[in-house]
Amino acid sequence: MKNSPFISAAVLLKELMALIVAKFGGTSVADVARIENAAGKILRELERGHQVAVVVSAMAGVTNQLVGYCTEVSPAHDAREYDVVVSSGEQITAGLMAMMLQKMGVTARSWLGWQIPIRTDGIHGKARIVGVETAEILKRLQGGEVVVVPGFQGLTDRGRISTLGRGGSDTTALALAAALKADRCDIYTDVDGVYTANPRIVPQATKIARISYEEMLELASLGAKVLHSRSVEIAMKEKVCLQVLSSFEDHIGSDLPGTIVTREDDIMEQEYVSGVAYTLDEGKVTLVRVPDLPGVAAKVFQPLADANINVDMIVQNVSSDGKTTDITFTVPKADLEKAADTIKAIKGLKYDDLAISDNVSKISIVGVGMKSHSGIANTMFQALADKGINIQVISTSEIKISVLIEADYTELAVRALHAAYGLDEE
Ligand code: ADP
Ligand code: ASP
Ligand code: MG
Repeated sequence: MKNSPFISAAVLLKELMALIVAKFGGTSVADVARIENAAGKILRELERGHQVAVVVSAMAGVTNQLVGYCTEVSPAHDAREYDVVVSSGEQITAGLMAMMLQKMGVTARSWLGWQIPIRTDGIHGKARIVGVETAEILKRLQGGEVVVVPGFQGLTDRGRISTLGRGGSDTTALALAAALKADRCDIYTDVDGVYTANPRIVPQATKIARISYEEMLELASLGAKVLHSRSVEIAMKEKVCLQVLSSFEDHIGSDLPGTIVTREDDIMEQEYVSGVAYTLDEGKVTLVRVPDLPGVAAKVFQPLADANINVDMIVQNVSSDGKTTDITFTVPKADLEKAADTIKAIKGLKYDDLAISDNVSKISIVGVGMKSHSGIANTMFQALADKGINIQVISTSEIKISVLIEADYTELAVRALHAAYGLDEE
């Protein structure tokens, strides 16, 4: 494990009575036996004197199936009805979890998103939580009841059901933990913590004992799907102690076996690079030979913003002839065609060619240690060059460097960078 744990508030909580939010992901509640396993962990927390609110995902595969039904009806289905359909997976697990706890002799009750309510904005399919009403559930928790909440779903101000975007149950858990002022939020999943890279791609990845909110937020935003990025944002803003741990091992959250996500100051040793992330979710757009004149970039990017298309990496070359230049940028793959159509519709925009590609991946390295060290980027470029991997676009911020490469080289690049920064397990 990277950086060894030391005594902190979180560790002391082992001994004290605490209010814990425990979230179980899809594989951890994939069938009744696994729900029983998860319920057993809650029971053990209760026996240690803790209060527990539980957040559950849909059973593994269920949300995909529900999304599939919607697409089968129509790829252009109504987003409000999509939310009615896909939010149902979590409802099933919440009821089953409450039943299972009751069977074990625990007083438990499920509370759906609209019953609490968990209030969201009205952006169906990727709503943001704006508030959680806690008075009733807090009273129940204090009375020794276990409160079971389905993840992923909320209620808009128009009284309709919303969902938080794929992976959004983590965000329900963190929003609930923040609203309840919980002592800790445990995210039970199918890996025993946050690793230096996705352990399914990099077998040499090592588990990180403690990671800062800032780094975790970058990793999650750049593709490490172990946590929904919005959940980390909430944890950071509301200073929630967050742990990622496995539901398949004997430990329970209060043993603190997983990765603790915490403030940078709470971490003793700091690596220059803490982790490598990748995403295949972005596509590339290139505008060839646009006029090199003031206002051209605004002319391109304003309509994309108006169309709600999230532009990420952008490069524009210095014009070689003083007349024209190329502009390349990335957008979510799902919006690639829409981006091309939006550009084609811009009146008065001149260019020689418009090329789109979905055969790209974005590889990123993340580390707060980068702030104070030079040469970090060059290690990245050299490691990729040594493998013959061409870099198409580069973007940097204070604690991350991302490159866009051909998708076929994704795994090779992630492994090469992992090794180049000394992250491979010895
Ligand atoms: P859940 O269904 O419990 O929410 P997810 O599939 O959403 O689980 O997230 C867990 C998965 O995240 C792991 O199985 C792993 O493949 C993936 N993952 C990606 N990057 C990382 C990382 N850096 N550390 C740990 N797991 C990672
Ligand atoms: N069930 C939802 C999904 O699969 C939310 C989640 O599990 O986090 O995306
Ligand atoms: Mg998840």
